[in-house]
Formats: sequence, structure tokens, C-alpha cells
Amino acid sequence: MNSKLLHSRRNIGIIAHVDAGKTTTTERVLFYTGESHRVGEVHDGTTTMDFDPQERKRGITINSAATTVFWQGVQINLIDTPGHIDFNIEVNRSLRVLDGAVVVFDGVAGVEPQTETNWRLADKYQVPRVCFINKLDRVGADFARVSQMIEQRLGAKLAVLQWPIGQEAGFTGVVDLLNMQALLWHGEKAGEPYVMAPIPSDLMSVATAQRARLVEAVVEHDEQALEAYVRGEPISVETLQACIRRGTLQGALVPVLAGSAFKNKGVEPLLDAVVAYLPSPEDRHMQEAGPAAEKPLSALAFKLVADEHGAMVFVRVYTGRLRLGDVVLNASTGKKERIARLYEVHADQRIERTELVAGDIAAVVGLKDTLTGHTLCAPGHPVELEHIVVPEPVIDVAIEPKARGDQQTLGRALHVLTREDPSLRVRQDAESGQVLLSGMGELQLEVSLEKLRARFGVEVSVGQPQVAYRETIAQEVTVHHVHKKQTGGPGQFAELTLKLAPLPRGEGVQFESQITGGAIPREFIPAIEAGVRRAAQSGVWGGFPCVDFKATLLDGSFHERDSSAMAFEHAAGAAFRDAAQKAGPVVLEPVMAVEVMTPAEHLGDCLGDLMRRRGHIRDQDVRGLATVISAQVPLKEMFGYIGQLRALSSGRAQFAMHFDHYDVVPPHLQAGLSL
Ligand code: GDP
Repeated sequence: MNSKLLHSRRNIGIIAHVDAGKTTTTERVLFYTGESHRVGEVHDGTTTMDFDPQERKRGITINSAATTVFWQGVQINLIDTPGHIDFNIEVNRSLRVLDGAVVVFDGVAGVEPQTETNWRLADKYQVPRVCFINKLDRVGADFARVSQMIEQRLGAKLAVLQWPIGQEAGFTGVVDLLNMQALLWHGEKAGEPYVMAPIPSDLMSVATAQRARLVEAVVEHDEQALEAYVRGEPISVETLQACIRRGTLQGALVPVLAGSAFKNKGVEPLLDAVVAYLPSPEDRHMQEAGPAAEKPLSALAFKLVADEHGAMVFVRVYTGRLRLGDVVLNASTGKKERIARLYEVHADQRIERTELVAGDIAAVVGLKDTLTGHTLCAPGHPVELEHIVVPEPVIDVAIEPKARGDQQTLGRALHVLTREDPSLRVRQDAESGQVLLSGMGELQLEVSLEKLRARFGVEVSVGQPQVAYRETIAQEVTVHHVHKKQTGGPGQFAELTLKLAPLPRGEGVQFESQITGGAIPREFIPAIEAGVRRAAQSGVWGGFPCVDFKATLLDGSFHERDSSAMAFEHAAGAAFRDAAQKAGPVVLEPVMAVEVMTPAEHLGDCLGDLMRRRGHIRDQDVRGLATVISAQVPLKEMFGYIGQLRALSSGRAQFAMHFDHYDVVPPHLQAGLSL
């Protein structure tokens, strides 16, 4: 195959702190690549990438969709990455599937916390990047200062490729430092091409100095260039570009560009840089032997967009081919699925494909049991690309449709939402009948509730978010229970002996029957298990689900006429409640693994604050000028943490957290917890 064709794809994502201009930049990319004939603005809610109406409303991009565009004959798949901290799983997953990233910075605010978190993730997944310093038309924008921040805070080695011409309202273009010429955008309308001009005389000396820095920073990536440099010989622009490409692919260099997406300045050179410096799928996966397309299929489902009729699953093919009509194995579920339709999704249309090859990203329709994170592979060659750990939901909210008639629609809508996001769960409280929506964070729940409104038209009343407590038992107990109602009419009889024993954290509920010789007929055993599980769901002491115990059915008896599955289920529930009461019930709370990154001068305050929140400090690690504290803190104590952390560090410290384990709530705090 023509190597040029093979290398004519880029799978990239745009990473940014909320408000830095990701949506606007994406919008301009769609415009300049001809995908969108009208430039949408975020504030009027017409942007094309955020097709979820709720995202338009919020102006933040939550779901990662993929959009295909072309620039200079190269196919660019834009994978949309969410910016907010609560969606770190999605960020992680999208970083896995992209080969390169454009990091957008606000030219005034510079390096913001979420960008830093995502930058570290991109380091972890070794994703090559180019930086776009945006909003240079804004008052207070400072290109030099922001590049310096990127260098110092993120520890990146920069290849500064451009220098701004004019600033704030006078920002009119950039000096292309490689070619030493000015690119000027005279109008502000999208689509007006830039004009090349000589470098303005007042910028000549800074441009010359910056070019010298650039050359010095990049020549080490090519031996001949380095020798020429040492001998003081001129180096061609092509050689310098090759050096920059090599350095970028190795993660040793980060090209930096300047612009104002909003004012339509700097977007075309940014696209040129994506093509010139970011890797193709082949560049990223060269180490593997043989052409990836000729191997058996492996593909990762990285995003699911569902509606009531089905789902569109975005996949990245890593090896092999995925063809229309193929029957593939979902290695994560063990089930086979048929590929009914393949689509390349463009901003405003879908284009049908008959085949995807290694490196392609597209949407599949017709998958019934495939969720985000699942691997699709050839039935004869099972592989799993990602082992999925769905995080424990740790926060609940009670929800109720405002209109009684919406009950069914709510049920269907919740079904769709939980398919899209496996970390979201729905259950019904056995006692109150309330529907509880559980998830990993406050924002995640808030966003899901807005989806109910915007996508499904269901208005719901929402309770206060609550920590998802659990219960467990402290010691082993055996009880004997007789359920008997034999006065008049059809009677009820069930007798059983049940043992409860504590299990280690995270084991859930286990059930075993040791009944032999028909003391209880076999057909009643499932009802007994169901009775125990149902009673455990409603808890014992505080009304929280009881977990981490084993129930063993030791013995029992039945009555020929009066025993039934219902009688045994009833008896089992009562036996469980009796036993659990006697087994020393305790309340468990979710404990989070928290990482706080703070400049050294705020370290003491951060540590003190974490300890006041019942935190255990596990580790401290110095990274450059910052210290990273690893701690375990009960979730309950983390409500409102972001505000406090900002206040005590003048906004400079940042944090990330995820669920770690459940632990016993200290006795003096348990008293206030029962429902
Ligand atoms: P996102 O949250 O990163 O997707 O950011 P948006 O693209 O939604 O931009 C946030 C706000 O900044 C919007 O009001 C944009 O119009 C504005 N904005 C984006 N880019 C620029 C720019 O280059 N200059 C100026 N002045 N404003 C911009």
C-alpha cells in the first residue's frame, strides 16, 4: 500500500480547561476544513460538535464524540475530550484512543488546573501534543508569559513556532518563525485567507532571537542538523520541520502556536501543524511487528451515544479490519455481535463505510450489548484491550417525576443513560419506593439530571445529594426463624436456620445453601436467597444496603400444604433482619483516594486541612516546584473541598479524587446517620 496513504490520518483530541476556547477552536476547524458552512458561536447555542442539546446549553463539552474532517488531503478524526474533573474516566478513555492532542490555553489565564491534570494524563499515555495559545485578542493576553508558564509549570520543552504581531485588540497575525515571514489576517470574518508579508520592522529583533532559540531547541533531534548547527551552517526549513516532528513524536518537544480562534486568526497554521507534527496511527504503533491492518481484528468501544431505539458506538480499530456484516466477538462480555452499519461522523452528516482498518475511528450501529470500554475482536482471536473497572457509585440522589404520567418515560430515559455511562446506577429504595440515582460525583449526577430534562423532556424533583453509605456486620450469628400463619384460609409455613458471617470489604453478598435430604424442597431455595438479598438491600440499622457478608442456610422444615416460595422468602427476610441486628451492625462510608498538588508554600495548610477532614496522609512527592500529597479522605468530608482548596492556596493548588474503598464510620459519628 502507498505509504503516503497509510500515513494520511490523524486521530487527535483537543484538550483545554473549561472556557479556554476548545469549542470555538473546534468550530473553526470544522469551518476551515469545509465541514460547516456557517460558523456557530458558543453563546448562541449553534455549535455543531456539541450535538447534545444539554451541552449546548451548558457550553461545556461532556460527551466525547468523534468527527471526521480533511485538511491537505489528510483525514483528521477529532475526538472530543471532556474538560471537567468529574469526567476523568472519559478523559482517560479518550486519551487512550487518540494519537495526538492540541492543547488550547487561554492567553490571559495561561496554565489552568484542569489543563495541568489532563497534561499529566497525556504524559501518562505518551500522547504527543501541540499547544495553541488562544484568545490573544483579549485584554491582558500575554503570549510570552503563557509559554513560560507551560515550560515551568508543565515541565515541557517548547518549540515556539510563532510570535504574535500586535496584542489585545491590535492582535493581527503571527510571525512564522520557521519561514521568517508574517501571516496577517486583515479581516475578522471566518474564511478570509491570511496574507503573507515581511516581518514588521519593530518585531525583527525579537523574531530573530526567537528563531535562534527555536533552532537551538530542535536540532538535537537530528544528527546532521546538530552537526550543521555546531559548524554554524544554515539548516533548511524542511530539516528543521523533520527535527520538530521527531522531537514531538518522542514526547521530547512541544510545538507552540498563537492565535485567536474567536477572531479567526491562527487556525489554518494550527491545522498545518497537526498534519506536520502530530503522529499518524502508524507512527504511534510502529513498534508492533507487521502491518496492523493485516492482523486479526481488535477494536475498542470508547463512547456510546444511546437513544430509545438503539445506540451508536464509537470505536477505534487498533488492528485488523472491521467490515459491514461481520460477526465479531465482544471480548468483555463473551457475546457475539453483528456490525449492521458503519458510519464516519462528520459535523452535520454521516457517511456510510463498508470497512474500517487499523487506525480508523468511526461509529457502529447495531451493537446490542456493547458498552463503553468493551473490546471487539475476531471470534477466533480473543483479546481484551482494556480491563474495565466500573467505579463504585458513591453519591445518591432521590428523584421523582414531577408529572405522575412521566413515570414510564423516566424509566426508559434512565435505562438509556445508564447504558451510556456504566458508572451511573439506578435503584429503587425498597422501603420508600424512591428512585435513587447513584454516581461518582456531584457534577456527574447534575449533568445526568439535565439530560433527563433536555433529551427526554422529563422534569424531576431532586433530593439533596447523599453519601452512599453501606452497612455490614461485625460478628458471626446463627438464628432460627419460623414463619407461621395457619389460622383460617390458605396457611403459610416456613422454618429455617440462617447463619450470617462477615466477609472482607468489597465482597458484596454471598449466599450458600447447606440443605441436604430435602429438609426444604429445592424449589424454595432461590426464594430464600432472594428474601435475604432483598432484606439486605434495605439494611438493618440505618436503612443502608448491607454488604460484605455471607448468609448460609443451615437447616429448616416445610409443610406439605402451607409452604410456598413466598412464605420462605418472607421467613428469610425476617431471619436476616433478626440475625443482622444481633451481629453488631456497623455503617460503612466511601473513602476516596485524593491527590492534591500544591506549590510548596501552601503545603502545610493543605495538609492541616486534609487532616481536619479525617484524612490519612499516605505519601508526599516533590514534582518540580509542586508537592503532590496522596491521602485517603472520607467522601462526606470532601463536599465543598474545591472552594476551600482554592481559598487556601490562592487558586494554585488542584486536586483529583476517585473512590478507593469502604470503611467503618467511627462510632461517635454513626449516631447521626440512621435514616
Ligand atoms: P471551551 O469551554 O473551552 O469549549 O470554550 P469556548 O470555546 O466555549 O469559549 C469560551 C468563551 O470564550 C466563549 O464565550 C468564546 O466566545 C470565548 N472565546 C473563545 N476563543 C476566544 C478568543 O480567541 N478570543 C476571545 N476574545 N474570546 C474567545
